[in-house]
Amino acid sequence: MADLMDKLVSLAKRRGFVFQSSEIYGGTGSVWDYGPLGVELKRNIRDAWWRSMVHMRDDIEGLDAAILMHPRVWEASGHVAGFTDPLVECKSCHRRFRADNPDIVGGQCPVCGTRDAFGEPRMFNLMFKTFMGPVEEDAAVVYMRPETAQGIYVNFQNVVTSSRQRIPFGIAQIGKAFRNEITPGNFIFRTREFEQMEMQFFVEPGSDDTWMDYWMTARMEWHTETMGIRKEKLRFHQHGPDELAHYAKRAFDIQYEFPFDWQEFEGIHNRTDFDLTRHQEYSGKKLEYIDPADTNKRYIPYIIETSAGLDRTLLVVLMDAYREEEVEGEKRVVLRFKPALAPIKVAIFPLVKKDGLPEIAARIHDDFKAAGVNSFHDDSGSIGRRYRRQDEAGTPFGITVDGQTTEDGTVTVRDRDTLEQVRVPSEGVVAYVQERVR
Ligand code: ATP
Repeated sequence: MADLMDKLVSLAKRRGFVFQSSEIYGGTGSVWDYGPLGVELKRNIRDAWWRSMVHMRDDIEGLDAAILMHPRVWEASGHVAGFTDPLVECKSCHRRFRADNPDIVGGQCPVCGTRDAFGEPRMFNLMFKTFMGPVEEDAAVVYMRPETAQGIYVNFQNVVTSSRQRIPFGIAQIGKAFRNEITPGNFIFRTREFEQMEMQFFVEPGSDDTWMDYWMTARMEWHTETMGIRKEKLRFHQHGPDELAHYAKRAFDIQYEFPFDWQEFEGIHNRTDFDLTRHQEYSGKKLEYIDPADTNKRYIPYIIETSAGLDRTLLVVLMDAYREEEVEGEKRVVLRFKPALAPIKVAIFPLVKKDGLPEIAARIHDDFKAAGVNSFHDDSGSIGRRYRRQDEAGTPFGITVDGQTTEDGTVTVRDRDTLEQVRVPSEGVVAYVQERVR
C-alpha cells in the first residue's frame, strides 16, 4: 500500500495535478504548485465547500480576511508565546516537546513510544515572520497567518453588525495559511504553505455540545456524499486530555486511512469562549453578543470550529479515487472522481480526422464551452489511447463522433466507470452530460 503514494506523486506530476515548487531550481522545501488539472480539482473542492457552507445556508456568512494581521492578534491567540521554546519534534507522531521535557527518557517519544524519535532541539516559532514597511526592525515585524480562524474572530462584531445575523450563526473563510513546519512531508499532506477551509460557528454557552454533535455529523456527511470518499476509509478520532489544545473543551479529528497511517484532514473543535475573550482583553474592545430579543442577555459566544485543509482534502480525494483496473485485457489507471469534482467533465473525440468529423466535434466542444462545462477536445492517437488518457485525468464522460454521426446525428457517450456506451443525439448531449455531472 505504501507505494500508492509513489504512484500518486508520479501520476500527479505526469498528468499535471501537482508539481514541486520551483522545480528547475531544485525545488523549495515542502511547497507545491498545482498544474492544469490540479488547479481545476482544487477549485471544484473549494467551490463545493463554499456552496454547502455559505450559499446553501442562511445562517453562515462568508469572509475573506487578509493574510497579514496586526501582530497583537498572535499574542492574543497564543501563537507568539506558544512556540518560542526550544523544541524537539517526534519524527513519528509529530508532537513537539520542550527539549527539557522530563518525560523524554532515552530519546523515546513519551506519547507514541517511538525510539530514537528526536533530532537536535531548535528555538522554534512555527510562524513565518516578515517586516511591514521600509525598516527591518522589531517594531515592524508581522507574521504570515498560521491559520485563517483569527481573521474571523477579529471580524466577529463587523459581521454581526453588517449582516444582522443572530446567534447561532457562522462565518466561513477559505484562504492561505503558513506554518514553518519542522518535519513537513508526505507530498501535499504537510506543507509550509497551504490553504484552509474554516468555519467558526458562534453559539450560546450551554448549547455548544449539541452544536458540536451537529457539525460532526454534517462534516462527515459532506466528505462521504459531496466528496465521494469511501466510508470505510474515514473515522473520527477524539482528542484525549494530552492532545487537547489549551483553548479546547472537546475536539475530534476526521481521519482518513492514508497509506502511511490514519491521519487527520479536518478538525472539529469546541473552542469555548477562549478566542473572543482573549481578543476582548488584548484589543480593549467589547466582543460580547447582545441578544436582540432580550438586551439584558449579554455573553461571549462559544465557538464550534470546523477546520479542513484544502490541499489535504485534495490529497484524500485524489487518493480515494485512484484505481488500477483491468479492461479488455489491458491495465488501466482511473481516477473515479465524483463527476462534479472532475477537472474535465467531458472529452470529445472525432474518430478520424476527416469526413467532417473534426468539425462536428469542434462544434460540440463549443456547445460545452457556452454551457460552462469544462470540456477537452482530443483528436490524436487511437481511440483506446484517448480513453486511457482521460481515465487517468478522471474525466467522467467521453463523446465519440463517428461515421454514424454524419448519418443520424447521434454520438456515443462512454461512461468512465461502467464503460457503458450509449448513443445520444448530438443536440441533446450537453444536457445529457450536465445532468450527470451536477
Ligand atoms: P497536524 O497535527 O497535522 O499538524 P493540526 O492539528 O496542527 O494538524 P489544525 O491546526 O487543526 O491542524 O489545522 C486544521 C487543518 O488544516 C488540518 O486538519 C489540515 O487539514 C490542515 N493543515 C494544518 N497544517 C497543515 C500543513 N502543514 N499542511 C497542510 N495542511 C495542513
